[in-house]
Amino acid sequence: MQIISPDYLSIDGEYKKGYSVAFDEQIRAVGVTEDILSLYPKSEHIATPPHSVLYPGFINTHVHLEFSGNSTTLRYGSFMPWLSSVIQKREMLTSSCTTEIISEACQAMLQSGITSFGAISSMGLELDACVATPQRVVLFHELIGSDPQSMQSAFENFVQRFEASAEYQNMRIAPAVAIHSPYSVHPDILGQAVAFAKERNAPLSAHFLESRAEREWLESSTGAFKPFFESFLNQTKAATTIEEFLASFDGYPAHFTHCVEAHEEELRKIALQGHTIAHCPRSNRLLGCGTLDLERLGRLNIPFSVATDGLSSNYSLNIFDELRAALMMHARHDLLSLSKKLIRSVTLDAAKILHLNAGRIASGYDADLALVVLPQAPEREEDIALWTILHTQKVTQLYIGGKQYV
Ligand SMILES: [Zn+2]
Repeated sequence: MQIISPDYLSIDGEYKKGYSVAFDEQIRAVGVTEDILSLYPKSEHIATPPHSVLYPGFINTHVHLEFSGNSTTLRYGSFMPWLSSVIQKREMLTSSCTTEIISEACQAMLQSGITSFGAISSMGLELDACVATPQRVVLFHELIGSDPQSMQSAFENFVQRFEASAEYQNMRIAPAVAIHSPYSVHPDILGQAVAFAKERNAPLSAHFLESRAEREWLESSTGAFKPFFESFLNQTKAATTIEEFLASFDGYPAHFTHCVEAHEEELRKIALQGHTIAHCPRSNRLLGCGTLDLERLGRLNIPFSVATDGLSSNYSLNIFDELRAALMMHARHDLLSLSKKLIRSVTLDAAKILHLNAGRIASGYDADLALVVLPQAPEREEDIALWTILHTQKVTQLYIGGKQYV
């Protein structure tokens, strides 16, 4: 048993002073330091630097590791030119993306305090790096295919990749299901995929309403997607509608990425069905996709997570870079309450989204912990979330399943 006694302990949105945590692979007890020390007198006591704050390990629900080789190759600024550049450079980027590069990306996440992540996998290139990394990985095998001729073989390939990763479940890898998007997946195969996720009780995710172009295409088969579909796929009409796509998920909660272009009506349906949203502020900014309406999400009580997306639409996988961007982007929100909400989005809410027994410092949860050190003692407890977001580049200590990795 180990005991850690930080200056402050983050518990359900509050910061407790004089508290300690006893843990082995799971958290066994949380309470006032004297009580915890007398409960486990023979345990190892972990020293912490001054001004330390202990958080549950941070969780990044949406990342694409297969594109970790990109830094200046893809075209940023607007969604369609970006998508065209992805298609054009995809082969080059993925073939040069070695296990070493992917491992470096996992390590960068680890240093910023990420103890679990959801990786969208379209080819299975990241499996070796995910097996080697100490983090918990929810591996979202992605399905793509709007052509009725080839979609059955795409589904079979997806099932194969899913089953292959299921063999690594005892190595902290959990297989999950990802639908690429409403514009790229045929409704028939979508139905099969949702049924498959439900049957396996696996997390389910989909990119949804990321850009204006996507919305126009799904609504009226017009806009910037039209020439793209005509030239690449010989398709003149969208294969599904927004309503149809959303209705396919009825009865099984999904994690929708982006939703920047979702209207009130769609968000109401998302709320009603218990779906959640991955919010990637830097990716949205870099691809010219606008800003998710967090105020509306709050009104409708839709849980969201802040996530980095991949290096195909970002410049770092540091969760604190992402939280800072979110803090700046949502300028109309009260600074202090938004800071707390953002921290919750990458701990408690993200854990629920990925079906993890983590994201909370409480007895019975996995001992995934991240220790952050503030530059000075905080004057007020209510400012700690803000200081944490503004001043953290890397965490000072990090535990996954009770084992120290930073
Ligand atoms: Zn994505």
